[in-house]
Amino acid sequence: MSEELKPCPWCKGTELSLSERSHNNVMLVCENNNCRAEGPWAKIEGDADPYTIALKAWNTRPAKNLEKLADDKAEKIIEWITIADSNEESHHTIKKVISGLILKALKQEVQS
Ligand SMILES: [Zn+2]
Repeated sequence: MSEELKPCPWCKGTELSLSERSHNNVMLVCENNNCRAEGPWAKIEGDADPYTIALKAWNTRPAKNLEKLADDKAEKIIEWITIADSNEESHHTIKKVISGLILKALKQEVQS
C-alpha cells in the first residue's frame, strides 16, 4: 500500500519527520541534525494521508532537484568566468575564486 521511503540524498539518512503547515501543506524533513534536508512541500488533496503525500514528494525530489541544481550551477559558473575574465585574473586565482563560490553554494544547499 505505502511507497518505500528513499534515503536522504545528502546524508543517506532514513530518519525523516513529517512537517505540516497551514493550507494543507506537508513535507518530510531529514532528522540528521547535520543535514536537515527538506521537502518539497506537497498539498494534501481531499482526505489523502499526509505522510503518504509528503513521502511521494520526497521520493520524487532528488532527480528533479539535481537537474535544476546542475542548471543553476552551470549558469553561475558562466557568470563567474565572465566576471573573472573581465578582471584579467590568473588561472590560479580564477580557480580559487570559483572553487570557493561552489563550496559556499554546496554548503547552503545541504542546509536548505
Ligand atoms: Zn539528510
